[in-house]
Amino acid sequence: MRSPCLTATLISIILILVLSISLLSKDIPVNSSKESPSIKKAIELILNIQSARRGEHLDFLVSVISQPPTLQTKESDIFYIEFLKGYIASANNQFELAEKHFNYAKQYIYTDLPAHVLSRFYYERSYIEIEQKQYERSKLSYQNAESLFNSNQDYSDTFISISLGRTYDLAHVEKGSLLSIQQAQKTLEFAQEIKYPEMERVYFILGLSYWNNNQTILGINFKLKALNIYIEKEQYSDIVYTLTDIGIDYLFLKNYDEAIRQLTQALEYQNKNNNTEPSEAYYIVYKLYSAYLQINDMANAKYYLDEAERLLKAQSDSIVKENFQTNQLLLEAEYLSITGKAKEALMLLTQASERHANGLSNSFYHFDVTLYNAYGKVYNHLGLYDDSIHHHTLAKEAIQKRKLFYLEDETYCYLYDAYLQQKDYQKAVFYLEKSHAVKAKQLNDNNQAQTQFLLHSFDNKKKESRILELEKNANKIMFFSGLLLCILVVIAIFVRILFSKNKKINALNIKLHELSLTDGLTAVPNRRALELHFLENKQDVTIRSVMMIDIDYFKNYNDTYGHKKGDEALIAVAKALKESCRENDFLARFGGEEFIIVMKDTNKAESIKIAENIQASVASLSIPHKNSDVSSFITLSMGITTYSVNKEDSANNEKAIIKADKALYYSKNNGRNQNTHFYDI
Ligand code: GH3
Ligand code: MG
Ligand code: MG
Repeated sequence: MRSPCLTATLISIILILVLSISLLSKDIPVNSSKESPSIKKAIELILNIQSARRGEHLDFLVSVISQPPTLQTKESDIFYIEFLKGYIASANNQFELAEKHFNYAKQYIYTDLPAHVLSRFYYERSYIEIEQKQYERSKLSYQNAESLFNSNQDYSDTFISISLGRTYDLAHVEKGSLLSIQQAQKTLEFAQEIKYPEMERVYFILGLSYWNNNQTILGINFKLKALNIYIEKEQYSDIVYTLTDIGIDYLFLKNYDEAIRQLTQALEYQNKNNNTEPSEAYYIVYKLYSAYLQINDMANAKYYLDEAERLLKAQSDSIVKENFQTNQLLLEAEYLSITGKAKEALMLLTQASERHANGLSNSFYHFDVTLYNAYGKVYNHLGLYDDSIHHHTLAKEAIQKRKLFYLEDETYCYLYDAYLQQKDYQKAVFYLEKSHAVKAKQLNDNNQAQTQFLLHSFDNKKKESRILELEKNANKIMFFSGLLLCILVVIAIFVRILFSKNKKINALNIKLHELSLTDGLTAVPNRRALELHFLENKQDVTIRSVMMIDIDYFKNYNDTYGHKKGDEALIAVAKALKESCRENDFLARFGGEEFIIVMKDTNKAESIKIAENIQASVASLSIPHKNSDVSSFITLSMGITTYSVNKEDSANNEKAIIKADKALYYSKNNGRNQNTHFYDI
């Protein structure tokens, strides 16, 4: 919870007290002979009122100018009356009206008008021009004010007051903080030169200028310098205000321990000083509450929240009391929200908003921003991040519109938190960077330790969110990699299964194919294989021989030796036939105890030779066949034919088989155990 309004208020009060106390004691003469006594008193008052307190004593000033002009009104009186009217208008923020009166007064500037009065006149004019954003004209007016002092060193203290006033005015102008610093440094040099007895005033204003220029630590250091002098001088009310102001500065810098240290001291001095108003104590206590809340010290936070409530009740001024009441609702809402009662907190905020809408928060500068951020924080606690972002964004917009730069960082941090909760890491990092940029500007000072402390904490936060983001991405990548790996493994297993199944099926198919073309008993190709052989060798253009082979008296063999022995004999014969075949000869079991050999590129003579080889080979097996009429061993009869292969004529092969069969029949009839070529029949 920050309240630069409070800073401004406190600064004003400090200025009023310090400057008015110090200057009221000095008797600044106004050329006495020419003005009526009341006008003289009014002008003397203005000369001693500091810039931050222009609103003071207006009732008295108004009463002076409301007196009807007498017939004796002199020209000099007209200058003073118009100056007063302009001053009052300016104090009431009616700058155009003020300008008119000043222009009118200017016409009545008379020759022996005291330099310090004229100087104040030009200075007040420069202030009006600042408010009208006429910076160049304001600069000229102030130069006028300054030049009058150059020629008259008698009123150095007044000059310092005006110079500090100019510093204060510039510090509160947009982009005026650098000019303000220059002005303050010039004042410092001059004050040192003339051994000004109230250097603390100069240091404090210099600190204020640096603070407003975002050179926060340098700003605090000058304020501390002023504080030490106040302590030496035992000026308790100044000590309280300066300590409070520095405490609030530390709150801005999120250096809560230091903020608590300064504010606690302020409260101690405040207790020593009975002259202070209860409203001052309220500010200190309320800021202590905010600091303890930030470090999660709920016990102390509660203590100071109750203290604030007590001081609120002790307020005598009803308007101030109403304003404090609005602020108190907000403080209580914050406390409830953090202690898990966000819904109740929301109700209090609604009350605070209504009071704010009715103008019951006017003594708190930028209360709207504070309220938006309070809403944002409560919604964050409720887990309603969209609402939280919405309210912090409203705060951000109000800040940008009104150039309340000192509230930027806090709001960016809230937006960072809300986006982080919403897991919108891109936006979260964006606001973290923005906050970082604001801080980087603030760190442009000479306090290395503080700089390091702050940099460190921002770096950590930044790293924190980057790590979160990276971790999230890493988790995502790991998850998807795992998923991909699983999918790949499953696919691989399927492929493997399919592949091996396919392989098996292929093997089975091959096997089936082989089996379908092979004779089960003798393991030589069967009749289907023979047909296939003929089909596959259609292109053949040369001669071919076909040999039909039949075992003699095999029925007798079975009858004699049994079917099993018959099978064995068939296997042995088939084996002998196979062994007798050449590379390109095709052997198949034609059926029963009959075999066929298709011989590629084989003429009659060659075929007969093979037939004879086969007969010899089977004879050498010497399979006994005692009931054969031709031999005591198994013998074969054969029929051969030789023909030209004609691929156009598919019946060609069938005809050849018939011819070979006829030749075989001839061999049988001719005594068996012999071969016959069809040509020889
Ligand atoms: P031929 O000399 O006139 O050829 O007389 P054969 O007895 O050999 O002729 P036939 O056609 O009368 O008899 C053929 C016999 O072959 C009949 C059958 O018992 C036998 N046979 C046919 N296939 C098989 C078989 O796979 N195993 C066995 N053990 N015998 C078979
Ligand atoms: Mg037969
Ligand atoms: Mg036979």
